[in-house]
Amino acid sequence: MEGSLKPMDAEQLREYGHRMVDFIADYYKSIESFPVLSQVKPGYLTELLPESAPNDPECLQDIFDDILQKIIPGITHWQSPDYFAYFPSNSSSSWILGRNAQCWIEHCGTFRQGWVIQGTASEAILVVLLAARDKILRKVGKKSLEKLVVYASDQTHSALQKACQIAGIFPENLRVLKTDLTSNYALSLEVVSEAISSDLSAGLIPFFICATVGTTSSAAVDPISELGKLAKAFNMWFHIDAAYAGSACICPEYRHYIDGVEEADSFGMNAHKWFLTNFDCSVLWVQASQENAVVDFKDWQIPLGRRFRSLKLWLVLRLYGVANLQSYIRNHIRLAEQFEQLITSDSRFEYASALFPPNDQDNGYKLNHGLLDAVNSSGKIFLSHTGISSCAVGAPLTEDRHIKTAWQVLQEQASTLLKPY
Ligand code: PLP
Repeated sequence: MEGSLKPMDAEQLREYGHRMVDFIADYYKSIESFPVLSQVKPGYLTELLPESAPNDPECLQDIFDDILQKIIPGITHWQSPDYFAYFPSNSSSSWILGRNAQCWIEHCGTFRQGWVIQGTASEAILVVLLAARDKILRKVGKKSLEKLVVYASDQTHSALQKACQIAGIFPENLRVLKTDLTSNYALSLEVVSEAISSDLSAGLIPFFICATVGTTSSAAVDPISELGKLAKAFNMWFHIDAAYAGSACICPEYRHYIDGVEEADSFGMNAHKWFLTNFDCSVLWVQASQENAVVDFKDWQIPLGRRFRSLKLWLVLRLYGVANLQSYIRNHIRLAEQFEQLITSDSRFEYASALFPPNDQDNGYKLNHGLLDAVNSSGKIFLSHTGISSCAVGAPLTEDRHIKTAWQVLQEQASTLLKPY
């Protein structure tokens, strides 16, 4: 099973693509046979869907049948010739073809229990920050905005800083707390606790902690359980940004990284990163009151209108099955480990968790940047730079041979660069 999933199988794409186009064309041909306005009750779908994703792949025909029998009844047919409400929302066969091309080039919806699909992790962070801000301001009064304080590590994605800016959090009240190698770049509980105590003594109002599971630069994992308890003790909102590494938690052996997740007020993960679902699909869970059967999703996101993003995620889950998705993730982790072994087997390289290996002039900065430029301008592989590490294995078509090639390119360019040394 390991590595057997072929998420970009061209022949399967051809076959399924033809069948999908037939399915869509049949829908448009029979559109007048459906009630224009959906006739079902809010929440009807929850009972029709299984509790969990299938372990093994399902066949496309079963999915088509479910779309017709379960999903379509919940749809109001904006493209129906009998639709005269609101305003036009034109679709066309050219658009459908264009959208497919867009999916190729680019590289939930109606369920309850507090899940919603945002476009991006940045939007998800902004939305929960706004919710947290309004919640605390309702308690302490609108005039206290300038006292609100946000806590995160120096490894947190810049999306948080942007969200703070948009939400009107005073820039000096975003605590970017220092991390280092001793904690593998994870937030230290003591550092956060000290910052909170010192802010409370200064009359400020700590209200939001953003923890990350898999930071962009260092793949660091903040201590979820401890931070969650701390947030609760001080009545703060606790958000977990698992945009990148959250996908790995589909494998039970990596799930311990989110132990304590039940303490969170919100949790976000990008299916469009490492979960075989095209951009945009950022899954957000929010601890929400379940008093109303109808969740008004327009209030859980920035725009009013929403794309039906859950459909593509649903197809990924059903057509691949959980077991295949798990082995897909495991295979990438195996390839990354293989790359690490290659690095450690060559004495000119160092597997670094801190920036460049020291030398007496510039800490290796020029040499490493020269290597990165040389590798990238070779056109053979593409690496990105970061202050900490630089090789992210996770593309759908990456196999063992690509890892070997990447390593060869790095070695060749390093040999060229090291000649004058
Ligand atoms: N959070 C983390 C940990 C990320 O790695 C990224 C993107 O790399 C983001 C947030 C931002 O993601 P998006 O582009 O979906 O806003």
